[in-house]
Amino acid sequence: MIRSITQQKPEEEVDRLLDGLGRVFIIGCGTCVTLTHTGGEAEVKAMKERLTGKGKMITGDMVLPVACDNLTREALNEYGEQIDQSDVLLIMTCAFGVQTIASQLKKMVVPALDTLFIGKEIGIGRFDEICTQCGTCILGETGGICPVTSCHKGLVNGPCGGTNNGKCEIDNEKDCAWTLIYNRLKELGRLDAMKKLQKPRNHQGEPSPGKYML
Ligand code: SF4
Ligand code: SF4
Repeated sequence: MIRSITQQKPEEEVDRLLDGLGRVFIIGCGTCVTLTHTGGEAEVKAMKERLTGKGKMITGDMVLPVACDNLTREALNEYGEQIDQSDVLLIMTCAFGVQTIASQLKKMVVPALDTLFIGKEIGIGRFDEICTQCGTCILGETGGICPVTSCHKGLVNGPCGGTNNGKCEIDNEKDCAWTLIYNRLKELGRLDAMKKLQKPRNHQGEPSPGKYML
């Protein structure tokens, strides 16, 4: 069972992330973000209208039934042409949905939402951390791979000095998150995103467990 609680990023942040990317395909989700009114049909429509007003060309939009589901790939295929025409996917799902979509398509992704808390049940009583709900999602600048959870040190401004042949110095069974991010951005022709300096993380952020009022 997965529960994702999200809030919309400020408009200025979405605009900044889309700067220079004229053709946009928008993706929402029919589950958690519909319940929280952050990425359902109505919010996708409102985003489309807002961005069109800003001069963007919307090549298409869709609301996936369940963005984090294994069937997402097939649903995306139905919109292949419109997706191909876009420069970027603007994704109005939780970070798990963003990562699911990013892993299936060779496209730059920009999250329109911040995920506040999320976890995946991988067995009875066992959960895998997908997202630490940092509240300031940077997947739009890391090719859809999260360094906060994938890097053992949670580094957000590139690798530490211990990367060894693509493996992590803390656990050599594990791929170095920043090697994965580098390879991904290189594949996308977006290595320039590596040069963007992320601000120091706010470790006095949301209390845990988080609370959110619908
Ligand atoms: S950067 Fe990582 S931890 Fe932060 S919201 Fe995005 S996916 Fe979650
Ligand atoms: S080797 Fe890579 S994954 Fe491991 S701590 Fe350093 S940057 Fe993070």
